[in-house]
Amino acid sequence: MRLIKKISRMRDYSKKIKGTRVIGFVPTMGSLHEGHLSLIRKARQQCEEVMISIFVNPTQFGKGEDYQRYPRDLSKDMKLSEKEGVDVIFAPSREEMYPQGYSTFVEIKGNLSSTLEGASRPGHFKGVATILTKLFNIINPDYSYFGEKDYQQALVVKKLVKELNLDTRILVLPTIRGKDGLALSSRNSYLNKKERTAATIFYKVLKRAKEWVGEGEKDPSALVSKMRALIEKEPLVRIDYVAVVNPKTLEKVKEVRGEVLALLAVNIGETRLIDNIKLADS
Ligand code: AMP
Repeated sequence: MRLIKKISRMRDYSKKIKGTRVIGFVPTMGSLHEGHLSLIRKARQQCEEVMISIFVNPTQFGKGEDYQRYPRDLSKDMKLSEKEGVDVIFAPSREEMYPQGYSTFVEIKGNLSSTLEGASRPGHFKGVATILTKLFNIINPDYSYFGEKDYQQALVVKKLVKELNLDTRILVLPTIRGKDGLALSSRNSYLNKKERTAATIFYKVLKRAKEWVGEGEKDPSALVSKMRALIEKEPLVRIDYVAVVNPKTLEKVKEVRGEVLALLAVNIGETRLIDNIKLADS
């Protein structure tokens, strides 16, 4: 396994490989867990060369967010990656990706990026779109792997790739959860014991919402109210948003018909977590 820190070396290496071996790419912010590893394993199955990036991208964090304290552990990530058969880790420095005077950004306008996470974290998707455009240009992967846990991000990335004619195929894989249902996230490491227990409410609520729909609930506002009421029983949790939307456009639905998506974002103490589930009427 190679660890590459310089853009020029990464680019040269990819250029050599491209066209002779199928390149699978998993962009991450490191602090790898089973969620990331599931993407890496899929890439390993489907591609000849597996590359991952580890970069805590400053431009996707807002003021007062957790950029500084975001967990970083490159040597542990290297061990995990090696075990999964990763060929290359691209782990550039902040200076390498955003040298002094850097001022070029990619922005996706419209509802898809301005709603939900976009509304709560202004500038977030601009940072995501910018770093991914840079990474796709440097690495030039045939396939790029993303997790459904960050559902809106996956939609935004697909739109980015389509509209800027970027030459990579986006694959989106299911959310990996702990035994208690909590979606794995690098940010779970911030939670203390009480908060970790409280956090199990999210998946319970999402699953309960699925049951309500199965039992015939068609009214999205009633569904959202019931979900909020359940979450509010947990005193450690503050709701950012609970939404029931069209899974393609992320627009609010008037009725639960066919497939809809329930998403939530909450704060527990200092930790912000998101999750989602598909609901379908029967
Ligand atoms: P991150 O390091 O949090 O930026 O995540 C890197 C990639 O891993 C993104 O595509 C995430 O959606 C994905 N990911 C994070 N957590 C999970 C999870 N629990 N299950 C599946 N994919 C995940």
